[in-house]
Amino acid sequence: MVRLSNDYLKELITEYKPYTTKGEVMTGIPGLDELNQNDLGVAVMDLNHNIYSAGATDVSFSLQSASKVISLLIALEDLGKEKVFQSVGMEPMGDFFNTISHLESGDVHRPFNPMVNAGAIAICSLIKGDTVEERFDRILMMLKTITGNENIDMDPDVYEAEKVKGDRNRALAYYMSSSGAVALNPQDALDLYFRINSIRLQVHDLAKIGLFIANGGRLIEQNKQLVSPDHLNTIQAIMMTSGMYNESGTFAVEVGFPCKSGISGGIFSAVPGRYGIGVFGPAINQKGNSVGGAKILQRISADLNLNIFNQT
Ligand code: GLN
Repeated sequence: MVRLSNDYLKELITEYKPYTTKGEVMTGIPGLDELNQNDLGVAVMDLNHNIYSAGATDVSFSLQSASKVISLLIALEDLGKEKVFQSVGMEPMGDFFNTISHLESGDVHRPFNPMVNAGAIAICSLIKGDTVEERFDRILMMLKTITGNENIDMDPDVYEAEKVKGDRNRALAYYMSSSGAVALNPQDALDLYFRINSIRLQVHDLAKIGLFIANGGRLIEQNKQLVSPDHLNTIQAIMMTSGMYNESGTFAVEVGFPCKSGISGGIFSAVPGRYGIGVFGPAINQKGNSVGGAKILQRISADLNLNIFNQT
């Protein structure tokens, strides 16, 4: 059995770096444009707060879709499971993350789940707060508390670019509003959505988010239960079935623990009761998932026997 160490992770980075040429960096969004296609980083944190890492650990990048988990968590805390899933479904979707056609099919026209863009925009409309700023601050505070990193903040350039490039997301929001399937104020929901996509952090922060989820919402250092453990069960199930979009099935089979990706190439993973893992590799495949990051997760899962479905 492999022992977790910085050296072990360094070997993985060397071995899987060539895979970064098999993906592409998302273009058109500052902060993504400038990312180096060949970067690859990993951080793993255990329940004793030991952290192991290697590769591009000092590069910061925007959270993008990985933010969808934090907004879902706050919506669950605010309203409870029943109400949240009246607005958004909990079923996996086999289409791309920003697809619109599904909103016109099915019996209720709701987004399939909170991990695709339409679902995340709908979730943004549920979060409590008098203004968008106040709602955003709650999400940012939650991230700072989970990671213990006071420096995490929104990148104003990425936020501007999300707005400029946001017509697809606008289409989703206004369509949901017009169909009445989801009661939302499209402008506010979109503004919050663009902001949370633009939060900048590093791969260590991703590992800490993963560990927090893996630990049922308990902060280890403070020994404090921050959110209801029930909501983390829901979150992990949703991450497992939909966190990697239309590649979630592959990740369930090949990695075997809950993961959530973003198009900047970050993925965080929760190995229930054991580890939080962050990977970062901005070269992504057509489904929006980091190519090198996926390889590293598969390998760590196999080497440390972390697939939750493996009982042997
Ligand atoms: N900002 C991107 C969008 O809204 C995020 C998508 C993603 O990370 N998959 O489309």
